[in-house]
Amino acid sequence: MKIFAVGLNYASHNKEMKRTFESKEPVLFMKPDTALLKDGKPFFLPDFSEDVQYETELVVKINRLGKHIAERFAYRYYDEITVGIDFTARDLQKRQKELGLPWEIAKSFDYSAAVGTFISKEETGSVQELNFRLEINGETVQSGNSREMIYPVERIISYVSRFFTLKIGDLIFTGTPAGVGPVKINDHLQGYIEERRLLDFRVK
Ligand code: MG
Repeated sequence: MKIFAVGLNYASHNKEMKRTFESKEPVLFMKPDTALLKDGKPFFLPDFSEDVQYETELVVKINRLGKHIAERFAYRYYDEITVGIDFTARDLQKRQKELGLPWEIAKSFDYSAAVGTFISKEETGSVQELNFRLEINGETVQSGNSREMIYPVERIISYVSRFFTLKIGDLIFTGTPAGVGPVKINDHLQGYIEERRLLDFRVK
């Protein structure tokens, strides 16, 4: 199982990160299967970072084998979505960026890819018009709407499949809107798509 993630896919987040460059293609990175955190299990703050941040994202699950998928057929390659957290060691990421080094230690460490309960996209209506949000300790800390994506889901699937064979169960994190921030011990994270709470776990 592979986990893909798209960086810089919301203009609002790019602004808060002070990223002014415009990519002509999706910015892709990957996380290994050991990054997966699911079933409401707690996230243990790692000891190598002083600034682990949440990034709330829509996540799609691939449901068939595919390579060189045309964008117009990409809808056939996923039928479940959820909300997830792309945990990021922001201090390490900043350092790696400054040094021009890869991001994996900041983005792809163990349990850095939290996912909620997957639901059928038939239940949600258009995947490109979904409100999603994160609450920490009962307060909304980040919210967005998937229509704000620079590269929509089907464009991302098509792009990923030019380079990587997609397999059943592969996941794609589709990027985060503005409002990222730190987590701390004892935080209670709850993620929603519209009014459905799909993600619910604690930081320890
Ligand atoms: Mg992200």
